[in-house]
Amino acid sequence: MSKRLVIKIGTSSLTQPQTGHLAISTIAALVETLSRLRHQGLEVVLVSSGAVGVGCARLGLTERPRSISMKQAVAAVGQGRLMRVYDDLFTSMQQPIAQVLLTRGDLVQRSRYVNAYRTFRQLLKLGVIPIVNENDTLAIEELKFGDNDTLSALVASLIEADWLFLLTDVDRLYSADPRFHADAQPISFIEKSMP
Ligand code: GLU
Repeated sequence: MSKRLVIKIGTSSLTQPQTGHLAISTIAALVETLSRLRHQGLEVVLVSSGAVGVGCARLGLTERPRSISMKQAVAAVGQGRLMRVYDDLFTSMQQPIAQVLLTRGDLVQRSRYVNAYRTFRQLLKLGVIPIVNENDTLAIEELKFGDNDTLSALVASLIEADWLFLLTDVDRLYSADPRFHADAQPISFIEKSMP
């Protein structure tokens, strides 16, 4: 059976720090690597952030929006732009992709979970690389994943992935977000939790 992997990439890796514009060469390198893995027979799912960041850059906003409705509107602009760039780059590698936008409700309710599982399975069987993000435009606060690290872990579990890679600018796992909590402790090893 093919090995399955999930890779998550965050906004800070996808965009340039000053302008918020897309870091095209980074994305191109990622696309090339994932296409190569796919051609070697692995099943690949990409979890990509960037909808809000790219939307801000597209609309010329200098600050990330604070209000929920503004964030949701900006995400709708950015998500389309992001997928356009991914599709152009993956097409140059002859690699078909798909957009999958999820909310927590899709993975909490049994029938929707099974439905999502079947869709992913079908996409992978077709040789497609699904590109997943939270449905930021429509997700309501109570049903948000919160961040794409969590989303990618849930997707990895949903599709029974063999590996999950988090591409991030944070150097390791911490007990809390080290940008906001000075007392955050690094965690170097996690034992498998009991069921
Ligand atoms: N879904 C958000 C976006 O695409 C990002 C969430 C995260 O970075 O964890 O902008």
